[in-house]
Amino acid sequence: MSNEYDVVIVGGGIAGGALATVLARSGVAVVVLERDLMPTDKVRGEYMAPWGVVELKRLGLLDPLLAAGGAFCRRSIPYDENLPGDAALPFALDLSKVRPEVPGPFCMSHPSMCATLAAAAERAGATWLRGVEEIEVAVGSPPAIAFSHDGTQMKWRPRLVIGADGQHSRVRRQLAFPVLADPPHNLVGGMLVEGVPDWPAETQVIGTEGRTHFLVFPLGGDRVRLYLCYDFADKAPYVGPRRQENLIAAFAGLSCLPYARSIAQARPIGPFNSFSNEDHWIEDPTAPGVVLVGDAAGHNDPIIGQGLSIALRDVRLVSEAILAGGRDQPSFRPYVEERLELMRRLRITARLSATLKAEYGEEVRLRRRRAGHRVRVNKMLTPGPAALIGPEMLPPAAFEQSTLDALLA
Ligand SMILES: Cc1cc2nc3c(=O)[nH]c(=O)nc-3n(C[C@H](O)[C@H](O)[C@H](O)COP(=O)(O)OP(=O)(O)OC[C@H]3O[C@@H](n4cnc5c(N)ncnc54)[C@H](O)[C@@H]3O)c2cc1C
Repeated sequence: MSNEYDVVIVGGGIAGGALATVLARSGVAVVVLERDLMPTDKVRGEYMAPWGVVELKRLGLLDPLLAAGGAFCRRSIPYDENLPGDAALPFALDLSKVRPEVPGPFCMSHPSMCATLAAAAERAGATWLRGVEEIEVAVGSPPAIAFSHDGTQMKWRPRLVIGADGQHSRVRRQLAFPVLADPPHNLVGGMLVEGVPDWPAETQVIGTEGRTHFLVFPLGGDRVRLYLCYDFADKAPYVGPRRQENLIAAFAGLSCLPYARSIAQARPIGPFNSFSNEDHWIEDPTAPGVVLVGDAAGHNDPIIGQGLSIALRDVRLVSEAILAGGRDQPSFRPYVEERLELMRRLRITARLSATLKAEYGEEVRLRRRRAGHRVRVNKMLTPGPAALIGPEMLPPAAFEQSTLDALLA
């Protein structure tokens, strides 16, 4: 294979697949270097916030994902120890009204999303190399990238290298981008299950009971994705060989959740992996000839489920810069500035969510009830809606310390 590519993308997940499709559709010669031979379930995001669905639609990528089995979620019920059973129903949120451009958040298995975006990119003319190893990147104008594929060593000098290789980005580590991080707050684990036919269609549930914060998203048919946040001190049941059944038992034992008994019958159809919950960010994810996108550029605490939406916003801003630049080196300054503020706002939103929902005990339960009342009844300003409508849609005051203090007082 000759060195014929203008743009080389390292990593063919959500960000890499979406960016390759958008660039290839505009005639850019693009290749994706992916480590895995096929996408597998490593426990990643499967719920896309409404503002991310707006991005997906703007990029022209919603239809292929819908055709491949993704579906909208139209209702969120806040079952919680403060709002058990029917007490939660008056506070159910109609997600179809959150962003009028789209019918609600979008749920789809992560490996299927990656596979569908890869197929869309290849249809649009992008090249996809799977099983790529030992990638080495050097900055410059142009940058250099070396790797091995099918036992052959390659060395290219494209116009641009894009690091889209996820949370543990090799490109980011090689080029020593400084990463800032919050202290870990708690752990989040996820598992895909089937055999929950009673789960209400198009309904998601997010709440806290006892010493767990739980989230359930419908994935079509009788499948649901379970996520559980828990304290580091409580991790014992969620490590070791019985962790899958212990996770199901944790959901089955939730007294505030009417469908807990049907989850007791669920069968795991994927791994149960846990991760620490905190934000990571980079002040400038660019270097000469290189730009990072998606989790490689820093990731938000998964507790508020924003990573897919952030990745798609990155894809729009970076593709716009590349396409506007013609044959010149693109200017990524608008991307860098917008991302920094987006991540700051989402970091504040995630910290608040973790403080209210993933700390445990009687005093915390009462604090959550007070804050819930202030938002639902007194209509107090909160950064919370940023995670649904998009952080730029709220006034700056929503993210100020005085706003958080008033909510938590
Ligand atoms: C437990 C958990 C729950 C989450 N829940 C949500 C949620 O509900 N909603 C949400 O929006 N977000 C959620 N997220 C975050 C979301 O999954 C990520 O933000 C999103 O997947 C980022 O997309 P990406 O393309 O940057 O990375 P990924 O989707 O991780 O893709 C990275 C790709 O790079 C490839 N790769 C890695 N290393 C190399 C290498 N050296 N060479 C070549 N290829 C490489 C990988 O194989 C992969 O294909 C969650 C994350 C976790 C951990």
